[in-house]
Amino acid sequence: MPVWLAGLVVVLSALLAPPHAYAADDTVHITRIEPYASRDAARVVLYASEAVSFERAEQRGEASRRLFVDLPRAAYEGPPSFELKGLLRRVRIEPAAGKLRVVLELSEPGQHSVFFLPQPFRVVIDVARPADSSAAAAPERSRSRAPSAATGERVVRRIALDPGHGGSESGATGPRGIREKDIVLDIAHRAAPLLARELGISTLLTRDTDDRVALEERVAKANAFGADLFVSIHCNADPSRTARGVISFVLDGSHDRHSVSVLERENAAPSSGADFQRFLEQFDDRLAAARSRTFARLLQRASLASLQPGYTDVIDGGVRGAGFYVLAGARMPAVLFETSFVSNELEGTRLGTAHYRQKLADAIVNAVRAYRAGY
Ligand SMILES: [Zn+2]
Repeated sequence: MPVWLAGLVVVLSALLAPPHAYAADDTVHITRIEPYASRDAARVVLYASEAVSFERAEQRGEASRRLFVDLPRAAYEGPPSFELKGLLRRVRIEPAAGKLRVVLELSEPGQHSVFFLPQPFRVVIDVARPADSSAAAAPERSRSRAPSAATGERVVRRIALDPGHGGSESGATGPRGIREKDIVLDIAHRAAPLLARELGISTLLTRDTDDRVALEERVAKANAFGADLFVSIHCNADPSRTARGVISFVLDGSHDRHSVSVLERENAAPSSGADFQRFLEQFDDRLAAARSRTFARLLQRASLASLQPGYTDVIDGGVRGAGFYVLAGARMPAVLFETSFVSNELEGTRLGTAHYRQKLADAIVNAVRAYRAGY
């Protein structure tokens, strides 16, 4: 959330690096900078050679179109600026005495958050148009058929569906070579038109083709789209090949043996340790967490209801928490949906059929319907 204080430069320190003293020559190298920009939001990812502390500063008035993030003891040798379009016009990197300053030039004042992702250590800077001006600037929003905000109803106008993996990342592989990346894209392609036709909800697919999309870019796209829900779609896998069931994950610190194995497969955060705790503390938003859990529970219920008539032995794996990077920084309730185990002969074979994938797409649509209705 932004902090606007008249005439003052507000400096918010986020000293997240391990609390040890650095030697004078203990330089942290920013090895890569990746900006993702769109009309209403943007994300800048700074890859660091090791944990680095960071502090952000903002100014009121004309200057509030600039956001500064300072990285003490950091060095960088890549391109000094990136020209962009939309909310984020330009990113400049300015070396200063004993620190590196990253300047974000915005087309208008925006909300922002700065956080880190561990392993590899990345500093992520998210900016977005404030919700009000975003709605005004997006005419298609007013055309969408959102329900009036009657008691108990939730406004859901836009949804981001995130088919996992893609391109060179096949994800998990199942019977007869069936690939997770193809299954989840097909489920998203089935759900999107239903969301539009039955619920009047517009959908963004974080990938619409068999291409690789960086984890960091997926939530950035959802934030830029102004999505009210984020659903990352995956197929589960387990070396035992006997594991089965439908599971929905939300971002939190609880984890069990199974979550750990899923985390490893989905390129996620380490699920324990001090780094992980600090990582989670950045997202201590109880309302968003509660809504994510609510949607995850509805997704489980809708999945069982959709699958059970045809597949009576479907297993409810429940809602679980874990530290998925792909959900980090989402400005909306976010769930990672492990549709079924592609590694299991029975479920993998089912995932290979259009009928089963349609039932999973129906489950997403029905869960959204229930969520919007206030269940
Ligand atoms: Zn996956």
